[in-house]
Amino acid sequence: MIDRYRVKPNQAINLAEWDADARGDFTRKAAGEAAVAKLNQELEHLQELLYAENRHKVLIVLQAMDTGGKDGVIRHVFDGVNPQGVKVASFKAPTPKELSHDYLWRIHQQTPATGEIVIFNRSHYEDVLVVRVHGLAPEEVWRRRYDQINAFERMLAEEGTTILKFYLHITKDEQKARLQSRLDDPEKRWKFSLGDLAERKRWPEYMHAYEDALSKTSTDWAPWYVVPANRKWYRNWVISTVIVDTLKAFDMRYPQPETLPDNLVIE
Ligand code: AMP
Ligand code: MG
Repeated sequence: MIDRYRVKPNQAINLAEWDADARGDFTRKAAGEAAVAKLNQELEHLQELLYAENRHKVLIVLQAMDTGGKDGVIRHVFDGVNPQGVKVASFKAPTPKELSHDYLWRIHQQTPATGEIVIFNRSHYEDVLVVRVHGLAPEEVWRRRYDQINAFERMLAEEGTTILKFYLHITKDEQKARLQSRLDDPEKRWKFSLGDLAERKRWPEYMHAYEDALSKTSTDWAPWYVVPANRKWYRNWVISTVIVDTLKAFDMRYPQPETLPDNLVIE
């Protein structure tokens, strides 16, 4: 069921054919929301276990066009999980210092340690997306990055990191509505930036760059999921389901307590 959103290695992707409005088997939104709430309870428990067991490292990559819902996923999917053991790393335009290193330098510093879940709000994929669309690096430079990224993620996976990557798929019309509501709502206005309109003009180029990235970098060790994201509750359900299924498959146990004497008295 959820596998239909998983991109196979080198699968040709035409995003226009991927339904951003999908709602799976849910006929009612309320049922979807209830399912998300239940998954959230499970995730809370599984994350406690992950932290206690201190054996697994989990990296979650979120990529999307502006207003795609990255912030919403972080707020809703991870609602109530213990902040000890869950970290968010947001990647903005690189600083001069970051630019003076290779593009993976700042990324590698934020990858998870054992017992941690790290969520990337944007990522090294910007280096084959915005960098490509705006020609911030020559084509020969960004072209070779797909292989470099696959090799980097492979190393992380071989060293024990579980990687899940989500592209939140919204339509251009949906972005228009969301930008408009940012403009209209005084509490959302801070999120609106004129730069978003300039990026919106390049929608087709971004779609093309995303299609290439999804196709070239969805691997057995770091798969991409194309998440239908026009409906926020369904987006949250898909992502929660993938994460919960993945953590369940770890078959985690609380650590063995140390052996204690039978006659132990706490004074
Ligand atoms: P926001 O996520 O809205 O705070 O915006 C962050 C901005 O940083 C976006 O416009 C990204 O395209 C930009 N950004 C992130 N990573 C890079 C990068 N490697 N090179 C250039 N721009 C980047
Ligand atoms: Mg923004």
